Amino acid sequence: MDTGTTMRAANDVMAPNDLSSWWMPFTANRAFKQNPRMIVGAKDMHYTTPDGRQVIDGIAGLWSCNAGHARDPIVAAIQRQAAELDYSPAFQFGHPHGFAAAARIAQMAPGDLDHVFFTNSGSEAIDTALKIALAYWNVSGQGQKTRLIGRERGYHGVGFGGISVGGIVSNRKFFGTLLAGVDHMPHTYSREHQAFTKGEPDWGAHLADDLERIVALHDASTIAAVVVEPMAGSTGVLPPPKGYLKRLREICDKHGILLVFDEVISGFGRLGFAFAAERYGVVPDMITFAKAVNSGTVPMGGVIVRSHVHDAFMKGPEHVIELFHGYTYSGHPLACAAALATLDVYRDENLFERVRTLEPIWADAMMSLRELPNVLDIRTVGLVGAIDLASREDGVGKRAFEAMDRAFREHDVVIRITADTIALTPPLIISEDQIGEIVDKVGRVIRAVA
Ligand code: PMP
Repeated sequence: MDTGTTMRAANDVMAPNDLSSWWMPFTANRAFKQNPRMIVGAKDMHYTTPDGRQVIDGIAGLWSCNAGHARDPIVAAIQRQAAELDYSPAFQFGHPHGFAAAARIAQMAPGDLDHVFFTNSGSEAIDTALKIALAYWNVSGQGQKTRLIGRERGYHGVGFGGISVGGIVSNRKFFGTLLAGVDHMPHTYSREHQAFTKGEPDWGAHLADDLERIVALHDASTIAAVVVEPMAGSTGVLPPPKGYLKRLREICDKHGILLVFDEVISGFGRLGFAFAAERYGVVPDMITFAKAVNSGTVPMGGVIVRSHVHDAFMKGPEHVIELFHGYTYSGHPLACAAALATLDVYRDENLFERVRTLEPIWADAMMSLRELPNVLDIRTVGLVGAIDLASREDGVGKRAFEAMDRAFREHDVVIRITADTIALTPPLIISEDQIGEIVDKVGRVIRAVA
């Protein structure tokens, strides 16, 4: 790569008056622009700052870059594809990389999750899954099944469907009435019963029974689908209680309700398997994915659909569009080429197995922080860890924000925060030494913000 060009581009965007136009997502814009945290390059486990510092990536981009950054085979595949076929009309035309990527992803999914609908993001994947669920009942002659069930503390992106089934007040309160006919099950976290658990907590499987309460209230004949993250990520890493997801599957089967797993962050190795569904031995009716499907390199998401759901749409007249839904960039050639190259890297480097080997080492390293000041709980699962800090008196989130800022500026590590929880989800290529390095740095940051 021509680093001279990279640095010139970076220096250009560093001009102060260039910062005003980008209204940045999920960012306190005014504070950020007074003292920006800038990144101009990335390779493998590290980011580069404009002043040349190497900052270790503790969160794989945003739970995305599971293969690490700027990996040669993935970069080459994207470059090749851009030169060969930059775009192909998304509707009524196909291209080889789209079919190959779909087949490859379907192959990795458990059971008869055999069909893939491509989107460009996790939010679109969730909205697509909800629409498929509603349309499925329509084409199956049960169009009265329209209710959607989400969960408290669920995060399903920022589309209207996603924020409706999601359970985060800040994502909901400013945006009107949202979708009608949505209920929420309770979240599965209890500090009292679960604090400092490695992996899936013993307590909490019974919380799945709340679905029976909702069925009793509305009747199953009105309920289309239940949507959950197998492991809630964005609200602080909440691994599922042992047996919880199986119970949910049983109740859905009993009442004829579709079960959707949102695997936007748990997909592609984060928990040591291609999908959390495999780790937990539960086959949902649909899996949403995004992010790590191509290691975060090109926007891409999608929904993997079981045969009985897909096939229900394939019964009408052949010339009629079966599902009136899609995006201009569904199955974009660059995204598909990047996915194929990424899935090769995961396979060739045994990265999912690697997570299973690293999991106990990672969990022990994380738990070594439990005696530090203000640490209320630590949770780990796969290559994911979360640390709950006590909130400062001047406001929720202030302590973690300071930790994130200091981690980047003073300790050369990128961490993620939600409220006063620190989340760590490094690339799957991380070495044992680098696990030690990240945990040590985070420990120093926690002491610094005490
Ligand atoms: N679902 C889950 C579980 C997620 O974690 C996210 C993003 N963090 C999304 C959906 C939304 O994905 P995107 O930001 O790509 O729209």
